[in-house]
Amino acid sequence: MIRFRNNISINGEAFGRARAMAAGIFEPSGPPSSNPLFRGGAPQLPGQEDYETFVERNAAIYENRVRDLLVRIQTRQAGRAVMSSIGQQARRVTIVPLPQPRQRIATRRTTDSPNSYATPLDLEAATQKSRLLRDARDGEVLKPWRRGTGEGSDGEIEFHPWPVTPDVLPDQSSCRSQTPFEGSLDEDLLHELLHVLRYMLGVRNARKVPFQPLYDTMEEFFAIVITNIYRSECGREGIRQHHHEAPASCITDEGFLKVGLNREHLRKLRRQQPDLFADLHAVKAPFNPIRQMWVAGQ
Ligand SMILES: [Zn+2]
Repeated sequence: MIRFRNNISINGEAFGRARAMAAGIFEPSGPPSSNPLFRGGAPQLPGQEDYETFVERNAAIYENRVRDLLVRIQTRQAGRAVMSSIGQQARRVTIVPLPQPRQRIATRRTTDSPNSYATPLDLEAATQKSRLLRDARDGEVLKPWRRGTGEGSDGEIEFHPWPVTPDVLPDQSSCRSQTPFEGSLDEDLLHELLHVLRYMLGVRNARKVPFQPLYDTMEEFFAIVITNIYRSECGREGIRQHHHEAPASCITDEGFLKVGLNREHLRKLRRQQPDLFADLHAVKAPFNPIRQMWVAGQ
């Protein structure tokens, strides 16, 4: 496990253990094997490093890979703004391997990138005070009804820091399919960090977005808009216009602010996360509707 800044941890142990299993290396206390090379349930091949060393070495591969993506995110002003806001929170986030990414992709629970998933450790504490707890997928109220306390929660991000090849993606013919590519892994991770930041603050309110159902929830709206600003700052083409498409759309800041209640949603962001809003307003990127709002004094 490595610590990145003060409250972000990366724990690749599960990745190391999965790698060991794939390589046929088992814990000394594991089940006996029929392989004669594995003596009495201590299946070490001659000359092979021991199980724990193998796991640690492979865990480090995962951890270093994620750390490199976090470093890449921090090279951009928008990324630094988000990381700085996370660093100011008392709550913590841990980034761990996505268990069995291929199977998970086939049954994925949200339309976030198939590489990633963020979850609060305490949903009531992550949810805005007095708001009803809602399903992350579609904004429906969870039964039985419960309300948020707004106390803030730690978060966990399950993340696979390598591209997942398109052949394992389901429903490729539908608008839900995405083809993650190397250049978007930092965006995928930033998107999840933005979800967790709001859990930490206790301001999660996953209601539907009025007039724009393809965003799924307001939480997706905020994560997508801010990741788009980062993406634009990176000089990448197009932005992601909702939760069911890869980045492709071109829209001006003014055009974006005129869609649905977008301007009102960003005002809400300014009320809830004023420091982040102020930092993002300074980002000089072709797409930055926050900067547009600030400049126009709206
Ligand atoms: Zn998301």
